[in-house]
Amino acid sequence: KVLVGTKVDEGHVNYITAYNMLTGIRFTVSRTNAKVDRELSDADFAARHKFSFDITGNELTPSAKYDFKFKDYAPWVFRHLRAKFDIDPAEYLMSLTSKYILSELGSPGKSGSFFYFSRDYKYIIKTIHHAEHCFLRKVLKDYYQHVEKNPNTLLSQFYGLHRVKMPYGRKIHFVVMNNLFPPHRDIHGTYDLKGSTMGRDYDESKLQSNPRATLKDLNWLRRDMKLEFGPHKKDIFIRQMEKDVALLQKLKIMDYSLLVGIHDLSRGNEDGLRDKTLQVFQPGLDKNEENPQGSLIRTPSKLEHARRVRELRESVKKERPVPMEAATDIMPDEANRTGFFYKDDGGFRATNLDNTAGPKIYYLGIIDCLTRYNTVKKAEHFWKGMGGHEPEISPIPPQRYGERFIRFIERTTKSSDLTEKERESADGA
Ligand code: ATP
Ligand code: CA
Ligand code: CA
Repeated sequence: KVLVGTKVDEGHVNYITAYNMLTGIRFTVSRTNAKVDRELSDADFAARHKFSFDITGNELTPSAKYDFKFKDYAPWVFRHLRAKFDIDPAEYLMSLTSKYILSELGSPGKSGSFFYFSRDYKYIIKTIHHAEHCFLRKVLKDYYQHVEKNPNTLLSQFYGLHRVKMPYGRKIHFVVMNNLFPPHRDIHGTYDLKGSTMGRDYDESKLQSNPRATLKDLNWLRRDMKLEFGPHKKDIFIRQMEKDVALLQKLKIMDYSLLVGIHDLSRGNEDGLRDKTLQVFQPGLDKNEENPQGSLIRTPSKLEHARRVRELRESVKKERPVPMEAATDIMPDEANRTGFFYKDDGGFRATNLDNTAGPKIYYLGIIDCLTRYNTVKKAEHFWKGMGGHEPEISPIPPQRYGERFIRFIERTTKSSDLTEKERESADGA
């Protein structure tokens, strides 16, 4: 599991899929955002629209490079969600343009889902299973209402739900969501925490060859890691966690985790993650024109970027669809995210006991929250639970899964300047 993705260029097996995903997103998002805003109705949650793309184009869809079908789910709901998460429509379209192809993280989990980063690293496209897709549609209204009530939610931020199908190909469902990790900061440690210990161990001998691997609960505990927040931030953080987990429990969701990325301010950016990660593919550019570091082909000036955003914003405002390929060959370079947990340079800064700022920035969120405690999990529970190990195993019912998750996070959240004695009594609590 590394963050540095593989460039999806014309030779890549998933090039056409990725290209069509982006073409479909661009078309449907600009189509919806070109209309005058309105209130949501119940029908918006169930809505779906199907489009056929081909190389000639028709009265509804513009011509595309390949033939494919694209389905857009609940476009108005996601338009409103993007607005709630402060995503600027023009910026969104720029990030997800098909002119620059994504980088692929491959399939880091066991689920077989694929992950793609937008070219500026702000968004992740995750392919999801049909069951997850159906489930998200089913609970979309609950999710929406939760976001309305909890603008600072730590849950994955969903920006779009779509499906792409190529001739003779499978139907591929996918979501667009926030990349928790910032494009401009090195992440010095990544952990995926569930509050369970069974099988939650990354073999650290593999870290040599894979230094950016995502570690798990047992690695976290063995390394005596903490989420270093003083009382004030801890309180706000845990209270939000509790509200988010209450929703997941209510919807009978489980198997989610807290994804934690740590930026150590004392180490800074010496590893140059950014240059290694943000590989941009520009069609029509000769391979050997790539700059020697293999990094950004072109970094636009801030001014140039602002001008392009303005242009796009104008066309969105004028209620005309954004031209498919226009005004996009630029790269915004800062994570200007909002929300309480994402406002310290895109993350959440550590604090000391006296609530003064600490030497780390945490990038956190609850991810992989579309797994329902269904019959498969119940069967797994039955077998794994036979040995009487229930508190340690991962597939326990959603209520208890959530309780164990919160308890783990709560206990591991403490500022680093606690004395040994204070730590002990906090651990015992
Ligand atoms: P499984 O079901 O086997 O756990 P999955 O395919 O559903 O896997 P996730 O658990 O969603 O995948 O994510 C796998 C890894 O991808 C995470 O541990 C993390 O390293 C990375 N990842 C997932 N979502 C995000 C995100 N929003 N931001 C940054 N990284 C992410
Ligand atoms: Ca997972
Ligand atoms: Ca999963």
